[in-house]
Amino acid sequence: MPDTDSKVKFLGRSLIGFRECSTAGEPFFASEPATGARLQPGFVPATSQEIDLAAKLATEAFDVFRRISGKERGAFLRRIAEKIEANASHVIERAGQETALPAARLQGETARTCGQLRLFAQVVEEGSWVQARVDRADPERKPLPKPDIRSLLRPLGPVAVFGASNFPLAFSVAGGDTASAFAAGNPVIFKAHPAHPGTSELVGRAIQQSVRECGLPEGTFSLLFDAGARVGTELLRHPLVKAGGFTGSRVGGRALMDIAAARPQPIPFYAEMSSTNPVFVLPGALRERAESISAGLHASFTMGAGQFCTKPGLVFLPEGAAGITQKLRALVEGPAQFHLLTKTIHSAYESGIAKRRTAGSVSLVAEGPAGAEQAGFAATPALFETNAAAFVYGDLEGEIFGPTTLLVQGCSREQMLTIARSLEGHLTATLHGTEQDLYRYADLIAILENRVGRLLFNGFPTGVEVTHAMVHGGPYPSTSDGRSTSVGSQAIFRFARPVCYQGFPDSALPDELKNANPLGIWRMLDGQMSRGVVNPAQK
Ligand code: NAP
Repeated sequence: MPDTDSKVKFLGRSLIGFRECSTAGEPFFASEPATGARLQPGFVPATSQEIDLAAKLATEAFDVFRRISGKERGAFLRRIAEKIEANASHVIERAGQETALPAARLQGETARTCGQLRLFAQVVEEGSWVQARVDRADPERKPLPKPDIRSLLRPLGPVAVFGASNFPLAFSVAGGDTASAFAAGNPVIFKAHPAHPGTSELVGRAIQQSVRECGLPEGTFSLLFDAGARVGTELLRHPLVKAGGFTGSRVGGRALMDIAAARPQPIPFYAEMSSTNPVFVLPGALRERAESISAGLHASFTMGAGQFCTKPGLVFLPEGAAGITQKLRALVEGPAQFHLLTKTIHSAYESGIAKRRTAGSVSLVAEGPAGAEQAGFAATPALFETNAAAFVYGDLEGEIFGPTTLLVQGCSREQMLTIARSLEGHLTATLHGTEQDLYRYADLIAILENRVGRLLFNGFPTGVEVTHAMVHGGPYPSTSDGRSTSVGSQAIFRFARPVCYQGFPDSALPDELKNANPLGIWRMLDGQMSRGVVNPAQK
């Protein structure tokens, strides 16, 4: 059922390797957030047979894909980036229709997605990410000789990836989870988010073509469509799937975590879920920078209509923060138009705001201008406040996805410490302060380090850099496993496991572990980092 109305022809069905998929079945449609209108064409959900085929092809592909060199894998990742860039105008046009995100944001996201693919290409081409370790033998050791022991990281097998609604590119089909799983040597079976199926198909086709042009096995990549839990559930339960990656809601992430753990053979499942990203404004910063903190906060909690996992949804203020509150009130009441991504997110926002409006301990400080256009999934920004004592007992920590935040007024130092100790896991925590504040609140930093994956000083949590040191993770429930990150090059470690070779002759070892170090990578040799060769006889 190719679409004939647009310049791009959509297939409207899943991509299983290089195969033509079934067109039978009830299609689902994306909606235009600005109007709520249905977007053509319909997309047909994958059948159970297609899911099974994708898993079998991925397993066959794994045998080849895991053995190709880092240089070849890097070339594949770079090819995907080139293909996306070559088709960027169509991708951005369709993503704009499906998400109502402005073109500038989508251009930035395209650049970020391609930058992310190239970052992982660089990592695998360099090769040291495998964390090779060599502990030489000691035949003279008493009472028993010590064997030669060497280890490195190896990929896991086919990875099921679930795309998020709020990043149609950077956390979707060719996003961070896909890039990191590919980089580690795993085939990917991607469950597209039903809010942007057209964008998903265009990017999926770019990956499919890259697989073909790089001479890789067809099962290296498949893309499955569905609007509902069936396909994702069947995929994650499939015995040939060996790991999962997810970005989205706590409810969805938790359901999938439980499925991954309850399988006869449980598998690692990395879910990045909800976070409210507390911000602590300390007294010195309040005295010095109330105006700029207010402007930065407003920009951060309304960026992308407040649909970022890093949105600051809780702001703890010391006594005397009337200036910040007034400035924020004026900004929230100012002219602005926000549309949420999906009907579900829109109704979750409306009910979250309605609940907060009627909570006895919370009051509405400001909301967006009355009479603003309310078509489609339009959302009115809202600013709420409470006080520290009420917050402690108020059940107010949960995420409301959309342009809103909660100010917690009049917090003493002791109250900030008590609240910080009571917080659940979040992706980030932010401190606004002076150096003197940092000295006085050193214990707050120590508490927060235990609650989040990223601590920011005098900044704002939205706008996550994709770098080597970035951590986009945090204790549950912000993620399913606080030992990992889903952004930055360290994300590769989620989809690899250590394998050890004991007593093997040099010729039978993987190149990464051979005495001559033919790849020239950094390795740990008897506890010291080295790029040198190994002389097995010399200690
Ligand atoms: P979502 O509902 O969790 O969906 C994410 C993906 O997971 C979709 O492909 C969805 O498929 C699939 N999925 C969800 N639950 C599933 C289940 N039980 N079994 C199988 N598959 C399942 O997230 P969303 O649509 O992006 O947004 C909804 C809410 O999630 C938002 O209101 C917001 O609160 C939160 N959210 C948080 C973040 C974050 O980064 N913290 C990001 C995005 C959204 P189907 O839709 O086809 O069922």
